Amino acid sequence: MKIFLYGIRPDEAEYLKQWNALNPDIETDYTDQIFTDETVDLSKGYNGVVLLQTQPYTRTALQKLHDFGVSKISVRNVGLDGFDFKDLRDLGFSLTSVPVYSPNAIAEHTTSLILRLLRRVPEFDKKFANADFRWFPTIGEEINGKTVGIVGTGHIGSVVARLMMAFGAKVVAYDIKPNPYLENLGIYVDSLDEVLKQANIITLHTPLAKRDIHMIDEAAFAKMKDGVIFINAARGGLVDTDALIKALDSGKVGGAGLDVLESENDVFQKKFDKISDVKDPQFQALLNRDNVIMTPHTAFYTTTAVHNMVFDSLNDNVKMLTGKAPKYPVDISEN
Ligand code: NAD
Repeated sequence: MKIFLYGIRPDEAEYLKQWNALNPDIETDYTDQIFTDETVDLSKGYNGVVLLQTQPYTRTALQKLHDFGVSKISVRNVGLDGFDFKDLRDLGFSLTSVPVYSPNAIAEHTTSLILRLLRRVPEFDKKFANADFRWFPTIGEEINGKTVGIVGTGHIGSVVARLMMAFGAKVVAYDIKPNPYLENLGIYVDSLDEVLKQANIITLHTPLAKRDIHMIDEAAFAKMKDGVIFINAARGGLVDTDALIKALDSGKVGGAGLDVLESENDVFQKKFDKISDVKDPQFQALLNRDNVIMTPHTAFYTTTAVHNMVFDSLNDNVKMLTGKAPKYPVDISEN
């Protein structure tokens, strides 16, 4: 049995080595390149593929994969918005993902974005670099006593809820399918609007369904409290970035922590010579603000998470190839 992996980084290659040692009968090979029309040929002769990328998986590449006789795809991450499920259905693919590689990784990163904004870390960093060690007037705020609004209380949002409660926050949450384990905490409100109205800090943890593109738009920002802290470590497309920029300019949003951006594929995971070489106007408009912290889609990026992404995706690919039920099958009947 032979499995080909795309987009493998050196840190993932280490875990792949560990997995190979535990599975000596299975042959693997990999490339650091992502899965595209140009690289699909690398998987010729293999039985399954394991992928990870934010760029779309094109129909042309999937068609070629199908022509090579590959029908089992495992992705090493949660986000499936790069696929058109119709393509997968038409071409007879089975798909697995790794939906829960480490919710704590993203929840802790979310918490760190909130804390860094509340304690005005970007301003202190600038002062420090200028040998200015005075604390006044850069006074911070505490999570304790604040109302934190959580939109989406699945694997990640539920951990964020517990972390925020541990800090002493009042949590108000909205989910289209409330989590029964959280119901007895009394955190749920009936609508997104209610979260937007009540919260001092709002954090998004929903997937990017087509209906939720720009879930947070100009009208949504208008409903928020003045000076709200806004966090998005879910998917860039959930937020109308131009509306966010306007809300930052007007002071409606007092601070934004962004691990994802609508146009991140043009910027994140790339190396530029200098920051001014980044041509994306939304990125440039968000840059160099004391009250905006951007991280390049790194919320997930911990050793625990990477280990689980590599191991769980490979284990599920093998399960599919050997006719066994995978741990994390993806329902591709609609998207
Ligand atoms: P999940 O599926 O476990 O939970 C999502 C929750 O959102 C569910 O409870 C669902 O009912 C709810 N939901 C869906 N649509 C909603 C809506 N319109 N309004 C309110 N609630 C809604 O997902 P998860 O694993 O917790 O992931 C959450 C998000 O985090 C996803 O967008 C995922 O892609 C993203 N993510 C980001 C990173 C990162 O590195 N930044 C890493 C992993 C996941």
